[in-house]
Amino acid sequence: MTRSEPALVLRPGKEKSLLRRHPWIYATAVAQVSGRPEPGDTVRVLGADGRFLARAAYSPASAIRARAWTFDEAEPVDAATIAARVAAAVARREGLGAESDALRLVFGEADALPGCVVDRYADQLVVQFLAAGVERWRDTIVEALVAATGCASVYERSDAAAREREGLPVREGALRGTAPAPVAIVEHGVRYRVDVVGGHKTGFYVDQRDNRALVARFAAGRRVLNCFCYTGGFTLAARHGGATEATSIDSSADALALAADNERDNGFATPSTWLQANVFDALKAMLAEGRTFDLIVLDPPKFAPSAQHVERAARAYKEINLKALRLLAPGGLLFTFSCSGAIPVDLFQKIVAGAVFDARVDAQMLRRLAAGLDHPMSMTHPEGEYLKGLLLRRM
Ligand code: SAH
Repeated sequence: MTRSEPALVLRPGKEKSLLRRHPWIYATAVAQVSGRPEPGDTVRVLGADGRFLARAAYSPASAIRARAWTFDEAEPVDAATIAARVAAAVARREGLGAESDALRLVFGEADALPGCVVDRYADQLVVQFLAAGVERWRDTIVEALVAATGCASVYERSDAAAREREGLPVREGALRGTAPAPVAIVEHGVRYRVDVVGGHKTGFYVDQRDNRALVARFAAGRRVLNCFCYTGGFTLAARHGGATEATSIDSSADALALAADNERDNGFATPSTWLQANVFDALKAMLAEGRTFDLIVLDPPKFAPSAQHVERAARAYKEINLKALRLLAPGGLLFTFSCSGAIPVDLFQKIVAGAVFDARVDAQMLRRLAAGLDHPMSMTHPEGEYLKGLLLRRM
């Protein structure tokens, strides 16, 4: 035991979640801090009785005051440990059968690197450092990523709001190589360009890969409506799968411009309809016009960024699902998603069931949907599960 390590001592009773290996230590659980740790420093976390619980990364600005690196007192937190975790995360992505150049290589807590996200687009890596602990080890992590993947180009797209919550300065830019032009990838036979510098998140919704493939599988002969289409992910998958026509809606002109480019790159005989609009208004207008579709995708942004927003978000989810169900022809399919971590899957299912009831239609659920296999969740950190969806068939 190294007595010089700084320590957090928890309030009585607050050791329970750590004993179950949940990796977060909330500020409200901490009774005392000793040894003057700096942000990102490794601290020993001790129970009120002084017993060792974990080594964790200290984050004095955050409500999540520390994130556990290890529950094993014998395991040091050093460059070798961090680099080995990066290499192991990358190795675990082999053999997942992703059939894509876009893959999540590191997913935070699930890969024992809390706050670190890494996506690979062909030979371009995009990283996010979203907590003080991984920020401290950023050079080690980048070096280990380059060694494990052979990629020479690494770009940082750390989410500004998440870094702010951690008291970290906003950071974006090339860490290795230069700022990339849009990167060309192929996913399940569909070509996309990914705007790593200006796009959402790390540039692309890698997490929806399996669900795009499922849409492609059901698309043949169907008239498709893709709401919140971003750069055209589900639309192009549907066209690849043989959709007879497609209409896609997004409020972002930039996203739609890239979507139309992506469509051209794939060489479909005819262009589809790209509509810049608010989905809520567009669905209403389409209902008024008596339009119908055979396959609808609803993949909205996170309506509930936190627990306080759940009620309002639930109303928004219900509204778009209700309208989409009414726009579906009998036998039509609805792929409906929520990426709000604050809305668990059973609540989402209840919201959609309410929409089915209020729309006065009958529907059956074919399957629950989730993120791909490269987005694992630690069984001791259920907060890591955020993307959920349902596949419904209107009767
Ligand atoms: N389905 C996409 C990802 C969707 S991200 C994919 O697989 O790639 C959410 C998208 O919704 C963003 O592109 C954003 O511009 C758009 N958006 C957010 N609010 C909107 C609204 N009210 N109406 C239309 N588009 C909206």
